[in-house]
Parts: sequence; C-alpha cells; structure tokens
Amino acid sequence: MESPLDSYLRALHADIASLTGGTPYSAGPGTPDPDPSQFGICLATADGYVYQVGDTASEFSIQSISKPFTYGLALADLGMDAVDEKVDVEPSGDPFNEVSLTKSSGRPPNAMVNAGALAATGLIKGSGGKSAIKRIVRTYSEFAGRHLTIDKHAVDAEIKISDRNHAFAYLLSSYGIIEGDPTAVLKNYLRQCSVQVTCRDLSIMAATLANGGTNPVTGVQAMDIGPVERVLSVMMTSGMYDDAGSWVASVGMPAKSGVGGGIIAVLPGEVGLAVYSPPLDHHGNSVRGVAVSERLSHDMEMHFVRSA
Ligand code: GLU
Repeated sequence: MESPLDSYLRALHADIASLTGGTPYSAGPGTPDPDPSQFGICLATADGYVYQVGDTASEFSIQSISKPFTYGLALADLGMDAVDEKVDVEPSGDPFNEVSLTKSSGRPPNAMVNAGALAATGLIKGSGGKSAIKRIVRTYSEFAGRHLTIDKHAVDAEIKISDRNHAFAYLLSSYGIIEGDPTAVLKNYLRQCSVQVTCRDLSIMAATLANGGTNPVTGVQAMDIGPVERVLSVMMTSGMYDDAGSWVASVGMPAKSGVGGGIIAVLPGEVGLAVYSPPLDHHGNSVRGVAVSERLSHDMEMHFVRSA
C-alpha cells in the first residue's frame, strides 16, 4: 500500500507538472537539448529511506551542484584556514558567473560562484595514486552511494562555451589563488560539472549532508562533520545564484542548484530533497524545482525558522 508520504509526493508532482515556464540550459555545440518534460522529485531521509516520484532515474549533468562537494573535499584536505585564505564565505548575491573578486587579494566571495568553485577545484591535488579529478568523482560517488562517471562529450561541449571560465582561471592564477596550470584546473572543473547523476543520486547526496557526512543508505562516511557544517552554511547564504535571499526567505534550507535542472536542499538531521526539471528561470534555477521546494518547505514545516 502507498504510504502517506508517497501519496503526498504523487499529488505534488502532478500539481507542479502543470507549471510550464522556463528554458532549459543549452550545454554547447553537439549536445542534445535536455527534455523539458523530465520531472522527478526524491526525498531521502537521514536514516536512509528514499521516497520518489516521476523521472528519478534519468541521468543529467550535476553542473553547479558539484560545487559544495568539491569545496567540502578541499576543506577536508587542507583545513578551514588554508581554504579560507583562497575563498571567502561571504554571500555575493551575484549571478554564478559574475566577476566579483576582492580587488586587493583576488579572493572570490564564496565557493558557490564560478570563481570560488574554480579556486576550490584548484586546491584538490592527486593523492594515493589517484588524480585530483578521480578523487573528486570518488567523493561524489561516496555521497551518492554508487559509482558515478563523467560524460566526456559534455566536457568537450562545455569547453567551447567557457570563455569566461577560462578568463576566471587565468585571473585567479594571476593573484596566486590558483597555483599551477589554470587550464588544467578549468578542465577539472568542467569535468566535475559533467558528472552524471540522477534525481535519486542527488537526494542521497543531500541526505548524506543532512546526516553529518555519513551516507545513510550505504553507511559509508563520505566526509567529516566539520567540512559538512561549513558547506551547509555557505549553501544557505549563497547556493541559489542571485536568488539566494528570496530562497532563504521562502524555503529556508541550505540548497544548491545547477543549470542541468537539478536542485538539492538539506534539512540537517532530517532529510535531503532533490528535484530534477530542466526548464530554468532567469536566475538559472529550475522553475519546478523552486516550486516543489517552496511547497514542501511550507507543507512539511522544513523552513529553518519554523523547524528550530
Ligand atoms: N558548467 C557551468 C559553468 O560553469 C555550470 C553552471 C551552473 O550550473 O551554474 O559555466
């Protein structure tokens, strides 16, 4: 028999499916456009139950939802002080690709905008016979609880539309924020954006954050609690592009969206939410993803002020 939560999610999915606004991201020459009708919702609890409805098994590029996980890995590798020297923790309120570096030091405002994300990716080094990008993908895989892979065609396509990211990488290198080859860092950043995930994967990644870094389905500790707390804090203030303020007001959960059409939101200690629907609003956030999150936050009292 269907559980009350399954029935609730089915009704929510049917209701929000009637929203038709927004435009899917075009990932560059030669890549198929995402199917705008794809729509999945997954809720994974911090004790490992997954509730899902709709297109929850279709793969798509993680895009900017990669940023918090790479930032967390940098914090785990180097410690907070060393990472803070390279990337600040101030909300920028800017679009993801805004040029907003501190004038004197070149330090990006936070790791959720592209400049800060490139800086964080540049901090990850190879270790134990594994390259930096292998370590990044392994971390995402531990969060998701399955082996994730990179879509190489997506990387080739993204690189052709990445003039601004190229410019960031070189600008950050000029300030010494990126050390080593800026092109190699850019390539790793585009590879991490092209990791293929499903809505279900994202919900388990979010639930792993909700569970303090231990994957509640596999029991594997993907990250320590210290980096997880910092990652969630920065997601709270800066995870939703230049819509972060109204997101905190209306949804009130740490979150991250990606132009691939995914959104994750985390209620610490309780649940990880993921929505997949490619049409994006003018901020770059999934239209249905935002609508689902607002409704769930309201109906389930997930806003941090209400649940405090
Ligand atoms: N690959 C995209 C870029 O950096 C990611 C954008 C996003 O999801 O915000 O341009």
